[in-house]
Amino acid sequence: MPAALDRSYDGIIIGAGHHGLVLGSYLARCGLDILLVDRRLQYGGALVTEEVTAPGFYHNLHSINHFHISETPWFKDLALADRVTYITPRYEFGQPHLDGSALVFGRDLEETLANVARFSKRDAATFRDWNRKAEEITARIFLPERFSEPLPRAEREALLSRSDIGRDFLAATKRQPFDVVQELFENEHVQLLFLFKISLFGTWLVDTMSKTSPMGSVIRAFDLQSGYQLCKGGSANLAHGLMETFIGAGGRFAPQVELDRIVIEGGKATGIALQDGRTVRAGQFVASTLNVHQTFEDYIGRAQLPAAFLKKLDEFEYTKWTIFGLHLALREPVRFHAEKFDPNIHRTLKWSLGAETMDELIAAHKDVMADRVPQIVQFGSGALSVLDPTQAPPGKHTTYAWHVMPLNPDIGSCDYETFKQEFAERIIEKWVRYAPNMTRKNIIAQHVYTAREYTQTFPEMRGGDIFMGAFSAEQVMYNHFGYRTPIERLYMAGSATHPGGAISGGGGYISAGVIARDLGLELWWKPWDAAGALGAVPAATSRGKLTSFFSAFLRWNCGFFGGSLCASPGQVFDHFAHLVGVKSMRAGPMIFGKDRPTSKRQ
Ligand SMILES: Cc1cc2nc3c(=O)[nH]c(=O)nc-3n(C[C@H](O)[C@H](O)[C@H](O)COP(=O)(O)OP(=O)(O)OC[C@H]3O[C@@H](n4cnc5c(N)ncnc54)[C@H](O)[C@@H]3O)c2cc1C
Repeated sequence: MPAALDRSYDGIIIGAGHHGLVLGSYLARCGLDILLVDRRLQYGGALVTEEVTAPGFYHNLHSINHFHISETPWFKDLALADRVTYITPRYEFGQPHLDGSALVFGRDLEETLANVARFSKRDAATFRDWNRKAEEITARIFLPERFSEPLPRAEREALLSRSDIGRDFLAATKRQPFDVVQELFENEHVQLLFLFKISLFGTWLVDTMSKTSPMGSVIRAFDLQSGYQLCKGGSANLAHGLMETFIGAGGRFAPQVELDRIVIEGGKATGIALQDGRTVRAGQFVASTLNVHQTFEDYIGRAQLPAAFLKKLDEFEYTKWTIFGLHLALREPVRFHAEKFDPNIHRTLKWSLGAETMDELIAAHKDVMADRVPQIVQFGSGALSVLDPTQAPPGKHTTYAWHVMPLNPDIGSCDYETFKQEFAERIIEKWVRYAPNMTRKNIIAQHVYTAREYTQTFPEMRGGDIFMGAFSAEQVMYNHFGYRTPIERLYMAGSATHPGGAISGGGGYISAGVIARDLGLELWWKPWDAAGALGAVPAATSRGKLTSFFSAFLRWNCGFFGGSLCASPGQVFDHFAHLVGVKSMRAGPMIFGKDRPTSKRQ
């Protein structure tokens, strides 16, 4: 058999991250002869698990928290549950505070409401209303759209406008998530945790403050049923499962491939040219999962692209923050003061630590935007080895801190290595105020990993943007970069396409359907379809008076039906107290102090 790079294929996929692996697996199962190439020796892209601190401690250097993965269409279609195990933590978001209290959101509504009520009964009642609607919107709209080719805006809005929850959702997408959370909830701790929940890994700062959120991410603040999961043994195990699937379907993988260019002949993509002079031909398509500038500037060249497309390329934006990561091998798990207040903080997947007020949170945003090292240390973390003991040696533990940071922080005359160690020390100093055992005595070893390092490993994460494209209103849903390109037979299949960066697999899954249909293949799976899903939403739902709070709030507040844009929370509250009756608004039935429900979840 000729070596992988010495023969032709039906299709070539560039980049063996999870998007490339998902795409390759679908198309290889269609019977196509597929070559997947990567510049690295390893595959899986940012699904990386390494023993970087001490032997037996497995650290996920890049992605850790995988959103709702085991329920995605590709995880099911590709029967990945036979190869990869996902842990669904019962407690998903937790926020310890310096006063010894903690707020924990779990998957169980009543338990979570009871937790919120310890901070504000009114906020718990508001959360109940929003949750009811949000669960329905997530299941009927948000998730189907996440894994479908986006509909044109007019068609989408017409379909959404036909149902109660569709109108509610549409209205929510026209609000700034930051405003919605601040207006709805009175307690600062509650506001902070909701903002952490809709952000990705605590780095909410920029995208949450976009004027609108066409994807509807604000809804994700209020649902509890879908959420983040942990890949057992480490994130790299998802990459292994996907590669086994791809190879099992007949695909070929070539690592350490130095690409020179994508070959364009007669306006069509016909293969890839390598830096060693070889050309590998693709009879039917070439797909890129790299970022848009690598694909079109580095490997195609501006001269081959139409002016309108170049404008789009030039206007494409990346997120302005990066991640400063501190990975720790521990003798014992993190033990918070706040465990006395809520013992479940100990086993929560994602902790938000360090910001005690909205002002402190905003200070970090301002610092990052101004290229300053954030003054107030505040970071995301989680109880990884408590939830998955296989990620550390028996009885030992791992955890991490992800801190938002500019790519090139102003560190004065300090050299970067010294800055890394000093900032890691500041993180530990902050941590110990919340968790008294987070001292140097407990830390066996540490590994600091910042954007300076991960952009070396992954040049596709341009400027340190972990998502390879900002989630701004101008770049998501019907405004995404697109699966098809101006060059025939050349497709985009990665993070630049809907639903964007993160371990969602969406770009690989959706582009598989697009390419297969363009090639006239018989599809062995049934691609999700947004028009079908939105069309199937019942026109009226069983909303009672209470849930009409949701839509009425949005309509009134966002001007969806020509209303005012500037209602205060108090006005809103009074308005709805009038609408639904003060009693039901102000104090829902609380189960504070009752036994907490049990679950098989961890
Ligand atoms: C520090 C950090 C933390 C993160 N945390 C999370 C998290 O908790 N949850 C989450 O969902 N997401 C997280 N992400 C984001 C997530 O990892 C990415 O969005 C995701 O990996 C994108 O997948 P992809 O397949 O599009 O690209 P990648 O995973 O980047 O894969 C692209 C592949 O292309 C290859 N490649 C690059 N250039 C070339 C070239 N010239 N020729 C050939 N191959 C090339 C790369 O080697 C790589 O294998 C994190 C990212 C980072 C950096």
